[in-house]
Amino acid sequence: MTIINGKQIAQDLRKNIKQQVAQLNLKPGLRKPGLAVILVGDDPASKVYVRNKDNACREVGFYAEKINKPADITQVELLAEVEQLNEDSNIDGILVQLPLPAHLDANQIIEAINPAKDVDGFHSENIGKLMQNKPHLRPCTPKGVMTMLATIGIDLMGKDCVVVGASNIVGRPMAMELLNARATVTICNSKTTNLSDKLKNADVIVVAVGIPKFIKGKWIKKGAIVIDVGINRIEENGNFKLVGDVDFNSAEKVAGWITPVPGGVGPMTIATLLENTLTAYQAKEKK
Ligand code: NAP
Repeated sequence: MTIINGKQIAQDLRKNIKQQVAQLNLKPGLRKPGLAVILVGDDPASKVYVRNKDNACREVGFYAEKINKPADITQVELLAEVEQLNEDSNIDGILVQLPLPAHLDANQIIEAINPAKDVDGFHSENIGKLMQNKPHLRPCTPKGVMTMLATIGIDLMGKDCVVVGASNIVGRPMAMELLNARATVTICNSKTTNLSDKLKNADVIVVAVGIPKFIKGKWIKKGAIVIDVGINRIEENGNFKLVGDVDFNSAEKVAGWITPVPGGVGPMTIATLLENTLTAYQAKEKK
């Protein structure tokens, strides 16, 4: 069994992006890639995510803008903020940190982002392109998983893959990525019956359900590749810790490859956000 070191793969990706940015800056007159992150309210977890994204941008030499808005911002005010960033020539990527407070319509906000600056890849235009296998800006977490699988040398063509979870931000685009790589894909949701039956012949399992230690080792085929997207904060013996959606201790005994939590998929998501921002920059500069 091999543990997939997402932290290392992400670090290498960031180093590569930093080098590309350094090369850009060598040419006089060229501006840096720019990312704007909007944080609404003061949810502690979101604050940490935004700070990490901001730091990651600066580390690779991007221009970064962190925009904090109060929790009681109106839909109209937030839309105006997005519109301003759409027009800002220093900004290549716009990210609105989710979840938003309940009174805001997140979908309408995402749809208001210029698809060319939608570095989260959630806009219907970018999702549509992914569906048609003509992707441009791809959702970060599933794209990060694909990078990870490519880095460890997995050829997905013809593989039986099961994606557990069907959210718009992880499960669905993940399934599309795997299909685009010409794998055979089964997508499961909370109404799936006999989940263990679906998993038992899978060559690759990607789990994103948000239930701690949900997938058991005994459900997994020997040698399978197990990708755990879940990030759950639980209390164990009086201490808080992060665990995935896979029961790592039992799964590692049967899996051929497995991602840990933390240090697996999580770091890939931020590295891929940087990659998408660079892609958006390059597409804009080419015009
Ligand atoms: P979500 O929006 O809550 O979606 C969960 C999905 O899991 C839904 O499609 C749901 O089915 C399905 N599900 C729930 N119970 C199930 C069950 N018993 N069997 C099969 N499917 C079941 O969650 P999400 O945003 O995709 O996030 C999932 C997890 O990934 C969370 O732990 C989150 O923190 C983590 N995450 C990590 C990263 C990263 O960078 N590593 C990024 C994003 C999310 P229905 O469609 O039927 O409701």
